[in-house]
Amino acid sequence: MKFSVALHDRPNFWYLGTISLEFTIFEAVPNGLLRGHENVTLYLSKSESGSKQKHYDVLIIGSGPAGYTAGVYSSRAKLATLIISGTLPGGQLMTTSEVENYPGFPNGIFGPELMMNMRQQAERFGAMVVDDEVIKVNFKKKPFTITTHSENYTAEAVIVCTGASPRKLGIPSEQQFSGRGVSYCATCDGPFFKGEDIVVVGGGDTALEEAMFLTKFGRSVKVVHRRDSLRATKILQVKALENPKIEFVWNNVVSDIKGDKKIATVHVKDITSGREKTFNAGGLFVAIGHEPNTAIFKGQLELDDKDYILLENHTRTSVEGVFAAGDVHDHRYRQAVTAAGFGCMAAIDVERWLSERKHVKK
Ligand code: NAP
Repeated sequence: MKFSVALHDRPNFWYLGTISLEFTIFEAVPNGLLRGHENVTLYLSKSESGSKQKHYDVLIIGSGPAGYTAGVYSSRAKLATLIISGTLPGGQLMTTSEVENYPGFPNGIFGPELMMNMRQQAERFGAMVVDDEVIKVNFKKKPFTITTHSENYTAEAVIVCTGASPRKLGIPSEQQFSGRGVSYCATCDGPFFKGEDIVVVGGGDTALEEAMFLTKFGRSVKVVHRRDSLRATKILQVKALENPKIEFVWNNVVSDIKGDKKIATVHVKDITSGREKTFNAGGLFVAIGHEPNTAIFKGQLELDDKDYILLENHTRTSVEGVFAAGDVHDHRYRQAVTAAGFGCMAAIDVERWLSERKHVKK
């Protein structure tokens, strides 16, 4: 096992090196058993539970590529910056294995390592990162108030970078078997399904990438899709359709999941004929898109009909002084690099907005 250590307080001493250790991390799983994780990579970072300072120039909500990049830019511009990381510090890339398309890494980089690098880069310029979750905001009064589980913070400007979460199938048995065979992340959970029959739901890039990844572990992989053509990019379609371990089940939706302690069967229904079928399955991977994490902004910011934040004039939201970046407003590109780009844009817009206000106040 390898892990890297960073010295955050001494910006010129990032990595002490790579230390080789051999041990297995055990995780309690819902059926009462322990499962062993081998070849785990640990990324260590200074973790703040709260910050002594309560008022900031810029408060960034969320810590994916958008949030950390906004943090790099705003702290480097000498703005007092707080990043509140949310429930999954580092965002969705923390549950990704190798990222091959983030520029600057010709041999790819592991998602968690990329995010740790971004966090350290923001901290290097003075951004404070607090590992807590925002539960309430008040954007109706300036300075804005942002409430976490443990603190109230105020800020002159806010950048919302809360991203998006995997969409659920919405059938009752899905929740029952979540973590007991139902997963939303093949790269996180795929290795636990060695030799199993696996079902993947969806017809986009994620579903096909996950299906191909899962062929490394599963005995068989079925992709259940609600239409007879795929939404995924052509190159992924060709690869998946050519893969002998993947079988496509067209025009079908998952109607039920059954099992005891973990899932045993997945039930599907043909939406054209109404015919039902049952597949033996040890794993069900749901890859049907994402929903924006905007629940706490309802009634505070203008959202579109799918609850994504509406932007006007580049990265500005409907409230002056509140900006947004990344998957929380972008349902089109949804890439780490585009989210990082939006984070940069939002921080530049905030810096200009703050200096214009100071100018006007004088
Ligand atoms: P997506 O493109 O929105 O695809 C979601 C898929 O799930 C669609 O095929 C959709 O069916 C299906 N679906 C949606 N709701 C459903 C429901 N309730 N029941 C059954 N099926 C349902 O989502 P994604 O695959 O996560 O990709 C999101 C974005 O990230 C895309 O822009 C994609 O290009 C990008 N992405 C890129 C990469 C890469 O570049 N390597 C990898 C992953 C994702 P319909 O087709 O019928 O609507």
